[in-house]
Amino acid sequence: MARVINFNAGPATLPLSVLEHAQKEFLDFEGTGMSLLEHSHRGATYAKVHEETKSLLRELLDIPDTHEVLFMQGGASAQFALVPMNLRGSGESADYIMTGAWSDKALSEAKITGDAREAGTGKVDGHYIRVPGQSELALDRTAAYVHFTSNNTIMGTQFHDYPDSGEVPLVADMSSDILWRPIDVSKFGLIYAGAQKNLGPAGITVLILRKDLAERIPKTLPKIFRYKTLLDNDSLQNTIPTFPVYMVRNVLRWVREQGGAAAMEKRNRQKAGAIYGMIDENPDFFRCPVEVESRSMMTPVFRLPTEELEKKLIAEAAAAGMVGIKGHRSVGGIRTSIYNATEPADVEKFVELARAFAKKNG
Ligand SMILES: *Cc1c(COP(=O)(O)O)cnc(C)c1O
Repeated sequence: MARVINFNAGPATLPLSVLEHAQKEFLDFEGTGMSLLEHSHRGATYAKVHEETKSLLRELLDIPDTHEVLFMQGGASAQFALVPMNLRGSGESADYIMTGAWSDKALSEAKITGDAREAGTGKVDGHYIRVPGQSELALDRTAAYVHFTSNNTIMGTQFHDYPDSGEVPLVADMSSDILWRPIDVSKFGLIYAGAQKNLGPAGITVLILRKDLAERIPKTLPKIFRYKTLLDNDSLQNTIPTFPVYMVRNVLRWVREQGGAAAMEKRNRQKAGAIYGMIDENPDFFRCPVEVESRSMMTPVFRLPTEELEKKLIAEAAAAGMVGIKGHRSVGGIRTSIYNATEPADVEKFVELARAFAKKNG
């Protein structure tokens, strides 16, 4: 078996041990004579998986009792629509901090059902190359919530200090950096993340909701879309994608084995440090378009002197068994998605290859 080094942006690489564990018990889950795929979402076997997944996330992110872990389908994109539908009352407005393609989408969905405004931007000369600092935000004290994207997967920027929204609930799309380091969950009204980057496979979205916010959900919203329905039913109001939740559980077990969120941060800073180090030591060849303070630890992006050379690097990396480094089609260049599961040794291998490439082609 030859597994490649996978820098895909999402769905993304998973720890090999997690995949092997799932493979081992795929046909007969814990001696029950059937696959977990075949178990009822209301049975005792799945219930244990469900509980463990939630409690592992609670433990790893130190989630306080004021908040609940919920699971939903539809990806982060469904949340772009559902956040305003749930958390913005009639006549209220919501604030959005603009830092890239995903926040653009979130804002445009929010505008379909009510008022939403830009409360700050990371755009410089038409390009999202940074995240705005606190002093650059123009927050509306009466807003229903403040929304931001903690890691901008496509742009390669990341918030290292989270916005302070005061009394207004803070809502974060953490799809591409949830659990990359320890965070203070109490500062957030809602965190949401599609699982397929840092938590597991595609098919499930994790929400961490401050429970009191469920009380403000408009009764005009169909029940199936209300966070309150998830809260009241432990996310089991209808058939949950059981297997993706189970895979998230396995990934969370792996994170704990590695030493938890603090160990993830150390590991992630080491990997990103290797890539940015390579870029900065050779500014004539590599160029990171992102301001240093806003650089992402999850999805570093960079350019080479020409698009031709970028194509050549992508091809040489592929020939060496490294895939997924092509930048998003909207921005081009190179992107190395180095989520929690990416092994530091694999990043080192890529850095070595890119360094040699620069030497040959510079
Ligand atoms: C990938 C991504 C999304 C889109 O997620 P889907 O699950 O495909 O809807 C949204 N926001 C961010 C920050 C992402 O990285």
